Amino acid sequence: MKKLISIIMCAVIAACAAVPAFAAEGCSCGFSPIIYVGPLGCAQIIRDAGTENEQQLWNIDTDFLLANLGDALPDISKGILTRDADLLGTALAGFVNACMGDLALDNEGKSKDNVTTPFINVPAGDKHGPDSDYYFNYDFRLDPYEHAERLHGFIARVKALTGHNSVKLKCSSMGGVVLSAYLDKYGYEGIDAIICRCCPLLGTAVAGEAYCGKVELSSKALTRYGEDAIPYLETGFADDFIEGTLYALLDVLKGAGVIDGICALGDKIIKAAGDRVFEQALIPIFGTLPGIWSFVPGEYFDEAVKFMKLPSEGGLHDKVFAYRNAMANIADNLTAARNDGVKICLICGYDVQRTPLVTLWKSTSDGTVDTKYASLGATCGDVKEPLADEYLNSLNNKEYLSPDNMIDASTCALPEITWFVRGWLHCNANAGIDELFNLVFTSEEVTVSSFEKFPQYLEADDDADTVYPVEGAPDAFNSLKEHPSYLNFIRFLFSIVKKILSLFFK
Ligand SMILES: [Zn+2]
Repeated sequence: MKKLISIIMCAVIAACAAVPAFAAEGCSCGFSPIIYVGPLGCAQIIRDAGTENEQQLWNIDTDFLLANLGDALPDISKGILTRDADLLGTALAGFVNACMGDLALDNEGKSKDNVTTPFINVPAGDKHGPDSDYYFNYDFRLDPYEHAERLHGFIARVKALTGHNSVKLKCSSMGGVVLSAYLDKYGYEGIDAIICRCCPLLGTAVAGEAYCGKVELSSKALTRYGEDAIPYLETGFADDFIEGTLYALLDVLKGAGVIDGICALGDKIIKAAGDRVFEQALIPIFGTLPGIWSFVPGEYFDEAVKFMKLPSEGGLHDKVFAYRNAMANIADNLTAARNDGVKICLICGYDVQRTPLVTLWKSTSDGTVDTKYASLGATCGDVKEPLADEYLNSLNNKEYLSPDNMIDASTCALPEITWFVRGWLHCNANAGIDELFNLVFTSEEVTVSSFEKFPQYLEADDDADTVYPVEGAPDAFNSLKEHPSYLNFIRFLFSIVKKILSLFFK
């Protein structure tokens, strides 16, 4: 019997070993497989998976949210009505903890045993090509180096399955964080192309400011945030009409001072109860997540360590600090890869109003990630504004200056392979941009001057699901002429009203 088992074991081991050996024969298709490194939230995080109490802890469902809000609502209302900031703050903190408290990691940076990611992908099958990818997902809370280690095995498995000796990495948003840790730990061997799509490679100001407790509501930013988000609402029937009306309504509300009122109230509440919410909920939860720490830009880091009360030693401390190397080295690591023939495309959005909750709301971005951080160092005008005249006049070389004077890419780490898309909302799907990615993957040479259709500065047209070259400053009349729609008509109308008003109220 023992002998029989031994023989079977040997046969199984031999069969397993034969799989990669067989695949390593090689594939002659000429297109190495794409691995898609997903964004934050790419893997479901579940508490008590497989039991009747099972609950998703990220992208929480509305029922769970409402049930917890119901419990907290009496104290929240009482706190607002009686202006009792302690009561309000404690109630809000209780609500946040009930919804998200179990996301917190321990002092070693490890998850609670009953909070897991049961649906982590393992590569299977040998299907590969321009329209197919292997999806790498991960628990966004954890140390990016842990993901890097898994990605290393994932890449090896994909190579074995497909019979290619290299892969292409397409990273979306937080996928760039995983890439940064990967390049720092393993280098670029076995990778022939890298795309970073809206990646917070040097962080994002939202995280930096939030981790330093700098929170502010600005009415101008809130209005613009609404305006920029409206075109992306899925309103279905009569899209243009509904979008246009909402757009107009926002401007009316702004004009009537309603939004300022809401913001003033919001600001008071935030100031009064905010300390308590930070103390009792945000710091104990988000302060323990190395994954979110990876979004804190360098210039905020020291202050954030103090504000978020990061332990001065232990596993969590070490993980949070370790990622600083990945971030500090990403520009050099990508440069080395490019110099050695790896095709690279960094692409980021600009001129979208960002989350209005932070003091740095003027920083131009794709709504989430600042353009300067995603592009590894572009010099940018404030959102909706060109660079200052003084800066423009002092520029000797305008090769990398955007036609609308909003971005100067000459200060980027890799200006020759960094693209910018005006009005592109964070990671929004766009067939035109996908076409560029395909060219990146299939062309011998990849630079911002390689493809006539895709110069360095592009504008996203979501209605037509494409991009076109930026020719000058955003102009409502031209947009209306080229894309006649109710929305563009309303935009045009308001641009005239604004121009007239600005003549009188300078
Ligand atoms: Zn192949």
